Amino acid sequence: MKKINIILDIDNTLVKTIKKVKNPKSTIYQDGVYYEIYPGCLQFLRYVAKLMNNYLIFFSNGTKQRNDDLIKELLTRAFNKKSVKFEIYSRADHCFSPITKNLTIIVPKDQLNRTILIDDDPYIIENSQKKNMIVINNETRRNLYHITGLIKFSYELYENNYHPNFVEIINLIDGYIESKQIYEEGKLQLSRV
Ligand SMILES: [Mg+2]
Repeated sequence: MKKINIILDIDNTLVKTIKKVKNPKSTIYQDGVYYEIYPGCLQFLRYVAKLMNNYLIFFSNGTKQRNDDLIKELLTRAFNKKSVKFEIYSRADHCFSPITKNLTIIVPKDQLNRTILIDDDPYIIENSQKKNMIVINNETRRNLYHITGLIKFSYELYENNYHPNFVEIINLIDGYIESKQIYEEGKLQLSRV
């Protein structure tokens, strides 16, 4: 399996804060805050962990304590008792002020061509790394299912040596394949993990 790095934002990417609990089963309560887990999120985490050889990387502007607690709970729900390795980069680890995410904090520069950040904030990433970011918007169809489909199509091409640069492939697919097709493929994929 060819190695890629998929780095995940937390807020509005995997979960969102809510005022009123609609579905207790998909809600996490932490330190006075309710978080709703987005549809498909637990399966998505299992899918990404599989691609990354049982590993997950999170990169969030939240505080270390909040991120640690939230991710621990999220992973318990996604993986039950099975163990998964992970790292979390929090507010204090962000490189530039105030909050720009620089992926070279996490991966060596020569791995940038196979490193993708999934984040809902299109302006959060270092300017020179814009291509390394795939924007998610869970309130639209560009949600976790869509992102899964996008990763799946791109990874297949990458594994089959279509192009040596994973980031180029995923950007190409993003602009090329019909988003409906990507969405359906992602849904199908997540129903299997
Ligand atoms: Mg976010």
